Amino acid sequence: MRRDPEILERDRAALAGAARLRQRHVIERVHGGGSEGARLVVAGRELIDFCSNDYLGLARHPQVIAALAAAAADFGVGSGAAHLVSGHSAPHQALEEELAAFTGRERALLFSTGYMANLGVISSFAGRGETVLEDRLNHASLLDGARLSGARLLRYAHGDAAAAGRMLAQRDAVALLATDGVFSMDGDIAPLAELASLARRARAWLLVDDAHGLGVLGSGGRGTLAVAALDSTAVPLLVGTLGKAFGTFGAFVAGDADTIEYLLQHARTGIYTTALPPALAAATRVALRLAAAEPWRRERLGALIARFRVAAARAGLAPGPVATPIQPVIVGSDAEAVRLSAALRSAGFWVAAIRPPTVPQGRARLRITLSALHRESDVDALVAALAEAGVARGTEH
Ligand SMILES: *Cc1c(COP(=O)(O)O)cnc(C)c1O
Repeated sequence: MRRDPEILERDRAALAGAARLRQRHVIERVHGGGSEGARLVVAGRELIDFCSNDYLGLARHPQVIAALAAAAADFGVGSGAAHLVSGHSAPHQALEEELAAFTGRERALLFSTGYMANLGVISSFAGRGETVLEDRLNHASLLDGARLSGARLLRYAHGDAAAAGRMLAQRDAVALLATDGVFSMDGDIAPLAELASLARRARAWLLVDDAHGLGVLGSGGRGTLAVAALDSTAVPLLVGTLGKAFGTFGAFVAGDADTIEYLLQHARTGIYTTALPPALAAATRVALRLAAAEPWRRERLGALIARFRVAAARAGLAPGPVATPIQPVIVGSDAEAVRLSAALRSAGFWVAAIRPPTVPQGRARLRITLSALHRESDVDALVAALAEAGVARGTEH
């Protein structure tokens, strides 16, 4: 791009004209994790947050906050160096061991973000002259990981294991197959058992990014792989993020010891970056323990999801295809999604409008997420506000 201020201004105007301009809203205050639920103050007004990924309500948990503060007092705020230099501390080591145990795998390796984990894993296991197969609706970080690797990226139709199988049969250099576990903008679940058998037969690596399944689905919140009973032989690479259901920040990859050692040696996004603050690792250890030990959070979340789906269907809205915390209401046009999001904000609800390129053209939506922090009356009021805003018109899946 030429250095020309006019190009920037034209770009901004074009985005605005197409209802695609993205904007941030400043959160001035959050209300506590207990009785006050998922409430935030934005522009002086209290809003009920229906777009956070804090599914279990752990981000503001007093024990998680206390662990962060205590470990910062012991280890400092920053880690000071990369993991392979002098940045890997006792809380990191303990968290990796606990994440391995939680996922039933031999070993886990921390990354600073899920985005970096996906870039690092894919570019470690695939490269030039090879092919990476991905679901068309995979998270951007999985698609970008394939691009960074230098491999050829092929995308199969969403959720279509048969299409993936046909692509695998046509090429012999497929190094890796990657999929979201729970799709981040659609809330549906990948056909994991079918993909696992395809990948095994083709001797390709299979990566499942379970950012939205871990903590939420399966026994003890062990995620989509636990639901599908797939171990590390079936799915050698499991990516999890810590900034969603676990309420903190960071990510990890779990697998067999040799696989993880290979990553430790080769994943550039793990090697050439400062280690996560040790205090975040300490806070995550507490969050992980709470997530596993307090099934009521998942039960409460499940009940709220069910309540939303029943109320939405009754109000003539089409809820998401599966009972996960991500319940998109697809409205189609970008301008309509923006209008609805603004109408909901006026009514006291924060529901983000998700537009292309995050989702395909003509598939703009309200991405509604539920949290154990919501009250039943919050869910009922949201559905009433959706109906009031006229969401039902043009809603489809
Ligand atoms: C959020 C998300 C990521 C990125 O994780 P960060 O830790 O936020 O960088 C990766 N994959 C999926 C499916 C996600 O939803």
